[in-house]
Amino acid sequence: MVSDCLFCRIVAGELPSIRVHEDELVIAIRDIAPRAPTHILIMPREHIASAADLTDAHAPIVGHLFAVAAELARAEGIADGGYRVVTNVGAWGGQTVDHLHFHLMGGRPFSWPPG
Ligand code: AMP
Ligand code: ZN
Repeated sequence: MVSDCLFCRIVAGELPSIRVHEDELVIAIRDIAPRAPTHILIMPREHIASAADLTDAHAPIVGHLFAVAAELARAEGIADGGYRVVTNVGAWGGQTVDHLHFHLMGGRPFSWPPG
């Protein structure tokens, strides 16, 4: 755990969140400022700064994370309409919290490419 990392503190339960999933590898919480009717953040318990730090050794975590995203999409009722799973990397990618997380967003149509 990185003590000054916002999401490490949420994983540890030091800061409040609305958890919609948790297991030994990942947790999922509702985004505090949702940009879509469903906006969930799925993150590993382990501190990984961003997708730029992923290696082949992280394959079990990343694979599981996408499986959780698909499960949550079904549970949220957004699977049939379609949805977006995205991770921002670095300043130009729009990343504001340096603990790997995937945005699961749905419940409205999205344009492409994103702004
Ligand atoms: P990103 O900008 O891609 O790094 O995503 C960070 C996300 O974390 C943003 O969508 C924020 O709204 C969200 N966020 C920031 N603080 C919290 C918090 N305390 N609980 C839940 N979501 C948060
Ligand atoms: Zn962290």
